[in-house]
Amino acid sequence: MSDIDILTGSTERHLTDLHSGQAEGAMLVHQDIVVPLTELQQNAAASGFDLRLCSGFRSFDRQLHIWNAKLSGLRPVVDDRGALINLDLLSPWQQIQAVMRWSALPGASRHHWGTDIDIYDRAAMPADYQLQLIPAEVEGQGMFAPMHDWLDEKLADQGFYRPYGTDTGGVAPERWHISYRPLAQTFAQGLTAEVLEQRLQGTELLLLDVVLDHLDEILQRYIQVD
Ligand SMILES: [Zn+2]
Repeated sequence: MSDIDILTGSTERHLTDLHSGQAEGAMLVHQDIVVPLTELQQNAAASGFDLRLCSGFRSFDRQLHIWNAKLSGLRPVVDDRGALINLDLLSPWQQIQAVMRWSALPGASRHHWGTDIDIYDRAAMPADYQLQLIPAEVEGQGMFAPMHDWLDEKLADQGFYRPYGTDTGGVAPERWHISYRPLAQTFAQGLTAEVLEQRLQGTELLLLDVVLDHLDEILQRYIQVD
């Protein structure tokens, strides 16, 4: 299989299961981030944090399911404050931007690469708490804010960074999303409009024509964020 399969989440051959042998479910990540990630977790542990993953690799098909569910009203689409958005009041391109605030276009998710993960501090989480991944958990007095404040200083030591750390008008700020830069920046460069168009053509993606009309802007605002 070609590199386009890795870039667009269409293969698992670059991945390894971080939770192999553990009771919890599989957690697939790129095999080359295991060493730096383990180092980061060990450093976090030495400072009292239990840095865990709640999301690693996500496939093209999974992302396609989420995309179509949101655009067809089967899943809620919300604004920055968590309020429900009525898609009927928006143009097709506005609908796409509303979805992309929180959900990537299939083929263009950084989670396809296995280099990007969503994390939390299990040591700070009550046993009966349902993890949500919302700003209130990671900012201010949020339960995971101390670990993220620590990460602000330490993240780069192992080669990680936050691609969505600040709001540039594309994806909402996601402090819980970190990326292994040496690999991710190579993938980001490889994911061109041509690659994306080739992968999306012929799929069941809702609003495909509108997406194809805006591919360059989508890449610039939502993927090439560094
Ligand atoms: Zn993420």
